[in-house]
Amino acid sequence: MKCAICRNGVTQNGRITVVLEKDHTTVVCKNVPADVCENCGEEYVSSKTNGELLTKAQEALKRGVDLEMLRFAA
Ligand SMILES: [Zn+2]
Repeated sequence: MKCAICRNGVTQNGRITVVLEKDHTTVVCKNVPADVCENCGEEYVSSKTNGELLTKAQEALKRGVDLEMLRFAA
C-alpha cells in the first residue's frame, strides 16, 4: 500500500521489533509482522497484530515483570 505519512513510498511486508513500556514493565516483541515504508521507514502494524501485542503486554504487566522478551510466532 501507499505510505500515508510521506505519500511517496510504498510499504513492503516486513518484520519489526516493537517495544512497549508501561510503569516499570518493558515488553520487547520481536518478529512482529508489519508493513514498512521503503521511503521513510514508517511502520504499519495491523489492528489484529496490535491487539495481540497489547494483550501480551498486559499479561506481563499483571505479572509485574521488569522485562519481557517475546517472539511473535505468526
Ligand atoms: Zn513513507
